[in-house]
Amino acid sequence: MERYSKQRELILNVLKSRNDHPTAEMLYKDILKIMPTIGIATVYRNLSALCESGQILKIETKQGESDRFDGNIKPHLHFQCLECNAIQDIFLNDKENIELKDKLKEFANIINAEITDSKILLKGRCEKCKDKK
Ligand SMILES: [Zn+2]
Ligand SMILES: [Zn+2]
Repeated sequence: MERYSKQRELILNVLKSRNDHPTAEMLYKDILKIMPTIGIATVYRNLSALCESGQILKIETKQGESDRFDGNIKPHLHFQCLECNAIQDIFLNDKENIELKDKLKEFANIINAEITDSKILLKGRCEKCKDKK
């Protein structure tokens, strides 16, 4: 049984309280206000551990940019705006989730593979940015 530290619980709670998919640095700033003695290395370490145990998700974004984290582990898709970098959630209903899974299975069948996980990140311009020149 892994020791569940106060720090880890705090990091998890702060992440779950936001829905903007923050970077480790963004979270660190929030956490410092509550626990001023915490170091950024501790935040990184705990975020990795939380990812490994499946309590949070890591979203790998654009090349050269910091990973973003998500405290919501219910199945959903992500959309990242390439202009403002905002990441939005897209939640599907049960029927849509099944349709998507079936489609992905079909694609995997093309190469005779079996899917065990899928992380879908759509990219483009968000509602606010798409009409801006
Ligand atoms: Zn945008
Ligand atoms: Zn999300």
